Amino acid sequence: MDKETEEKWIGAGKIGSNALLQGAKLIKAGVSLLEVAEKIESIIIKAGAKPAFPCNISINDLAAHFTPNLNDKQVFNENDVVKLDVGAQIDGCICDNAITVDLSGKNNDLVKASRDAVENAVKIVKPGLEIREIGKVIEEAIKSYGFNPITNLCGHGIEEYTQHAGLMIPNYDNKSTIKLKEGQVIAIEPFATSGEGHVTEGAPSNIYRLVNLKPVRDKNAREVLGFIAENYKTLPFAKRWVIKELGAKANFGFLFLEKQGNLSSYPQLPERSKKLVSQAEHTVIVKKKSIVTSAWTD
Ligand code: MN
Ligand code: MN
Repeated sequence: MDKETEEKWIGAGKIGSNALLQGAKLIKAGVSLLEVAEKIESIIIKAGAKPAFPCNISINDLAAHFTPNLNDKQVFNENDVVKLDVGAQIDGCICDNAITVDLSGKNNDLVKASRDAVENAVKIVKPGLEIREIGKVIEEAIKSYGFNPITNLCGHGIEEYTQHAGLMIPNYDNKSTIKLKEGQVIAIEPFATSGEGHVTEGAPSNIYRLVNLKPVRDKNAREVLGFIAENYKTLPFAKRWVIKELGAKANFGFLFLEKQGNLSSYPQLPERSKKLVSQAEHTVIVKKKSIVTSAWTD
């Protein structure tokens, strides 16, 4: 990776982690999810980057993949355990990072379990490391608090304009001897739960990605498709972003594109035993002295 590219990854990391920490402070009982998501995304844009994916706000037993629609009236409740997952990108160089906010104040250990896991894991990242070693460190940290890692969710490689690129980073010792390589960018994202440690696929999330550019006859759908291809490329996007730019008529185009298979929607991911889940995530450039691009500076 050349110096100029590395600076883009680091720049996206600074903006993404700042937006995450500022956003976490906005999460309070009675505040709407939509307001928080939109504020975080505007913080990223004002800082000179773009959201790499819609702000994910996943509550209690929901581990990941929810973003509100424009008409969503849902507010935070006083006992919510909130996973906030935020991404920023500069020319496709992505920061993917997450934090858990416990509004109940009763789940401190659950929050610390995933936080410790990610902090311990980023310390050992270097070229040549077998990915099972990362999983081992994560599993140990989470189990030391008496919780389980979610084993069917994992971290991932990141490439320019590709949030999930090939490589999987396990949240337990999966015995994989695949080795990290110098210059790779990875996201490490442990999930801790008081439940079984498995997620299932739930309702649609309002988060989509473009899967193909197969031509469409419908004029409105064609406009929506062109807009998505130009603005989000292969990155995940929110339906509300498109509706805000193109108006409510884009809803029809959307339906058409989903039906024809141009778009695919991510499912929400609830924990199977319906127990609370916490998450923490950092993005790391693998080097002899690895760089945690989303490191907290305060
Ligand atoms: Mn994430
Ligand atoms: Mn991620």
